[in-house]
Amino acid sequence: IKADFAMIRRESGFISGLVCVLHDVTEQEKNERERREFVSNVSHELRTPLTSMRSYLEALSDGAWEDPEIAPRFINVSLVETDRMIRMINDLLNLSRMDSQRSPLQKELLNLNELVNFVLDRFEMMINKENQNYTIKREFTRRVIWVEADQDRLMQVLDNIMNNALKYSPDGGEITCTLLETHNNVILSVSDQGMGIPKKDVKRIFDRFFRVDKARSRAMGGSGLGLAISKEVINDHGGTIWAESEEGKGSTFYLSLPYEPIEEDDWE
Ligand code: ADP
Repeated sequence: IKADFAMIRRESGFISGLVCVLHDVTEQEKNERERREFVSNVSHELRTPLTSMRSYLEALSDGAWEDPEIAPRFINVSLVETDRMIRMINDLLNLSRMDSQRSPLQKELLNLNELVNFVLDRFEMMINKENQNYTIKREFTRRVIWVEADQDRLMQVLDNIMNNALKYSPDGGEITCTLLETHNNVILSVSDQGMGIPKKDVKRIFDRFFRVDKARSRAMGGSGLGLAISKEVINDHGGTIWAESEEGKGSTFYLSLPYEPIEEDDWE
């Protein structure tokens, strides 16, 4: 709280009163600090790929372009970095659109069991194709869950969480996806047996640009914005997203969405 004082002084010089105005500046200062942090984060995040690209381009221009072995490698690095910057800018634009409510949700009645199965089938297909060492387990309620949600956005969130489960489980393992309902919520969880998240960081992983290990996340092509976007999408749906994790053992991500059972006979 900021306090401004003013004295009321008579012509004779006597002080006859004191005015005090209190301003609540905490919220204002917090927003300003967050804005500054955000701008500084974006600048740093863009500087890294740009600096790396610049040095590769410089080497090419200094003669490496003539080397048939090195040239394609250096060009490829530049392409990878460009792709990462484009992804990051797209993520930032998405976030900014959501922040300013410029892209309202396109809600429709969705069969959540089907939607989750569809996403998991896609991941299963990819795992099999690339002979990766993961198994996906599904533990779903027998009830068919209908929710009012934006299909594209919800799939984007599931994709993010599933991608992370694979990305941060370098040794493979079981990924368990559960779907269950309480009387007014549906809860979806994704558990992995990966590297987990240190206790002090679990709350921060939903912050923009926060990563436990920046180098690893970058090497995997991550922008550090996936979970921030997921949180925004789930909040817009009136739901919540959170994580529990144990370092070295694995993590579980939970999504809870408002849900009203529609009919008595919607059992499989
Ligand atoms: P990134 O692009 O870095 O993956 P995210 O916003 O998706 O960005 O995640 C933020 C950070 O949270 C990651 O960098 C990682 O440190 C941590 N994280 C997310 N999911 C998991 C997981 N399943 N296991 C361990 N750490 C995770």
